[in-house]
Amino acid sequence: MNNIPFVSFRPMEQELNTEIRAAFDRVLESSWYILGHEDTAFEEAFAKFVGTDHCIGCGNGLDALILSLKALGVGPGDEVIVQSNTYIATVLAITYVGATPVLVEPDIRTYNIDPALIEQAITSRTRAIMPVHLYGQPCDMDPIMEIASRHGIKVVEDCAQAHGALYKGKRVGSFGDSAGFSFYPGKNLGALGDAGAVTTSDKALGDKIRAIANYGSDYKYHFIYQGQNSRLDELQAALLSAKLPALDRMNAERRRIAREYLQGMNNPDIIMPYVPDYAEPVWHIFAIRTERRDELAEYLKERGIGTMMHYPIPIHMQECYSEKARAAAGHSDAECPGCEHLHDSLPYAQGDLPLAEEISRTELSLPMYYGMTDEQVAYVIDAVNSFK
Ligand SMILES: *Cc1c(COP(=O)(O)O)cnc(C)c1O
Repeated sequence: MNNIPFVSFRPMEQELNTEIRAAFDRVLESSWYILGHEDTAFEEAFAKFVGTDHCIGCGNGLDALILSLKALGVGPGDEVIVQSNTYIATVLAITYVGATPVLVEPDIRTYNIDPALIEQAITSRTRAIMPVHLYGQPCDMDPIMEIASRHGIKVVEDCAQAHGALYKGKRVGSFGDSAGFSFYPGKNLGALGDAGAVTTSDKALGDKIRAIANYGSDYKYHFIYQGQNSRLDELQAALLSAKLPALDRMNAERRRIAREYLQGMNNPDIIMPYVPDYAEPVWHIFAIRTERRDELAEYLKERGIGTMMHYPIPIHMQECYSEKARAAAGHSDAECPGCEHLHDSLPYAQGDLPLAEEISRTELSLPMYYGMTDEQVAYVIDAVNSFK
């Protein structure tokens, strides 16, 4: 029987083995592990790749978003507009700084925030919009930037799934006031552990983010902000520098696989991804949808094909954000003393965000990674087409 995992790092790691080992050796030889040449070199290379003036390495993608919001002055009493069907981290960043997430439904074709719904969600307290380039597909940035600039609100892009994706020929991460990237191992550009970065072309904002990420310090033992400790360590920076030169090539390979999937799959019960003219996605996730999602997942599993769901429970129905979900699970606030700060009760009930709920119910992610062979791709296509 075939065995095609949902994701595998092996082909990429084998191909870049020499570069990865050289990076590791270099850092060990240097005996310098935090805030050094490797960090600076990767930041410069990644800013150049994205097309921004600055890049600030940090601990992970969630921190990249938190640092951005903190530095932009977003906090208690402020509202931040974000799409209802993102990964939990985007919304956690907003509630972490004490602001209120305002969930806006996606365009059901692209799965990204629907720009036509943003304006009606803006209030006098709206401070920022966080477009998420979900599954590696760029958001429709022109209308988003136009609305933000007309209302004087900030834009923080969540690029955690979209390293290298292009909107009208320009890299995501270069549109907003700042952008957060994750280098979690499974992302298109992944570290060998946790890592993240912020990109921006605003020098003052970048300097502030850099200081906040380093205990709020601008120079040694001088603290100008109540900061945090979220830095990109030398080892992860060196490993990322080893992998960055291959990113465009490896993304192109994902595009080739996506093209094969799009051309080869013709199952009438399945909704295939839609790519708008403005977008050149990087296919972090190849998301299909069907009313018989769980059945299809089981059918593919029986044929040795790994799949995932992104994401099975919408954010507004998660226990951390819904008192009703907590009560249903027997974890109501009353039964969890000391959890007030770990829970929130967003003003959404089941049924309030039907598109987010529909995507959660019907989405299935197919295998997609650098190094999938033609036979594997053809096998997945045949299996999906034979599902009746
Ligand atoms: C992975 C991810 C994050 C968080 O990144 P971490 O490095 O895991 O903290 C944020 N947003 C989205 C959309 C993600 O997929």
